[in-house]
Amino acid sequence: MDNLTFGTQRLVHLDLKGAPPKITFFEKFFPFIKDCGATGILLEWEDTFPFTKELIQIGGLSNSAQVSGAPYSLEEARQLLDLASDCDLTVIPLVQTFGHMEFVLKHEQWRSLREVEAYPSSMCPSNSETMPLVRRLVKQIVAFHPNITHLHIGGDEIWHMGLCPACQKRVQTTKYGRAGLYLDHVTELAQYIKDNYPNLKIIIWDDMLRNIDLHILQDYYVGNLVEPMIWHYNSTETFQLGGLLWEKYSNIFSNIWGATAFKGATSSCQLIPVTKYHISNHEAWLTELGVHAGKILNFRGIALTGWSRFDHYATLCELLPCGIPSLCLCLKTWLAGGYSHDIQDSVGKMLGYNDTFPHPDYMYLRPPLPLPQLTFPGWQVLVGFEWLANLRTRYKNIVNSDQMQTWFNLWQVSNNYTNPMQINTILPVIADILIEVTSVENYLKGNLDHFFYQHTIEELMGTLLIPIKQHLKQIKADCETQLSLGCRVRGYKRLSL
Ligand SMILES: [Zn+2]
Repeated sequence: MDNLTFGTQRLVHLDLKGAPPKITFFEKFFPFIKDCGATGILLEWEDTFPFTKELIQIGGLSNSAQVSGAPYSLEEARQLLDLASDCDLTVIPLVQTFGHMEFVLKHEQWRSLREVEAYPSSMCPSNSETMPLVRRLVKQIVAFHPNITHLHIGGDEIWHMGLCPACQKRVQTTKYGRAGLYLDHVTELAQYIKDNYPNLKIIIWDDMLRNIDLHILQDYYVGNLVEPMIWHYNSTETFQLGGLLWEKYSNIFSNIWGATAFKGATSSCQLIPVTKYHISNHEAWLTELGVHAGKILNFRGIALTGWSRFDHYATLCELLPCGIPSLCLCLKTWLAGGYSHDIQDSVGKMLGYNDTFPHPDYMYLRPPLPLPQLTFPGWQVLVGFEWLANLRTRYKNIVNSDQMQTWFNLWQVSNNYTNPMQINTILPVIADILIEVTSVENYLKGNLDHFFYQHTIEELMGTLLIPIKQHLKQIKADCETQLSLGCRVRGYKRLSL
């Protein structure tokens, strides 16, 4: 591994806004990722952080419509940090401070800080209450993490900017318009952090900087204030950062980070990571850095992101335990400078698959029975989700089958116009898969609570399993009703002349 080109840091991103694992999970997870070659964690608490005092509402204590769940207790959060420290993993906390602020702006208390009144995503940087709130967030996060060297202040994907009357006016009357809106906010916050925590280095996501002209970035001395984390999650086929970006950043920043993805970057409701895609993303990054890193004074390393939701209101995508094989393969690919079959074999053995480790091309097969005895933390969850994903595919195939569409569609059932000959072959299939749905449900209920809190389990079941179960039950009941009615005669209404 060439540290100069590829950096020394390999942070594993923990996106706790979706399915935050129980603390006991990290007792095994942290030593495991350390063994795989991780050097630290990029810790995105979002609303799971035990904010106190004037920010206590963020944890959802007074919001019954809470989506992502209760925060960790102070004791649990401390335990998490202790466990990371025991494994000698660097911790870099990430707190959003501009966009992706739903976890704050959804609360009535801070509704007035929205850029667009109806949307809880982005803060209005012109509101005089915005910066005090952001400072309080930073203050509580920093106070809780002793000895950190870096703080990530987010700053990506500000969906709504320059839209409220005050911001519109600033866009129209100031020298740098929208770019100025963004940079004013970020640099003011960065300066506050520098003044109060002089030893702390500040990281921001880079996407909002990509389209801002070099001379504007230079005018703001952005390079003296923050280190950008360039994120790009695509596979080799569509990977595109390019020379101009590196050229521009090399004129401004001495220190640069990269961000890859090991999960949560394909479909927004993906259950199992598309491992091949994520390995390819890491290979593309290796190639990109091989070409361009020479332009950068210091490439610090990468964060391997693992998104749990696409945003605060999005449904869950891959759970952390389901992403472990992908994470492991991506880390090893990174360390080796490329993917190979040797990596596939050694990671398979490390995870306990022996000869049955699925190839990255693998699509869902029926889970082998009896269940495999794997060795990585949370493997029971992955096995259950592979089963669920497979079951869901078969369910979709059945309800969308030509047979159902041709002889058992909504019109036919509503008008009692069905043929028992068809129902006699549909009903056993529905009954069988319904039994299997109950088996998966029992398996997941029996295993998920070792790793996740009740609110996560309820969300998973309510999203992925219960709708399928209810639908199948309805079809079964309709089949039985139609069979009891027998063949009916179609009656045509005569038009009265
Ligand atoms: Zn505004």
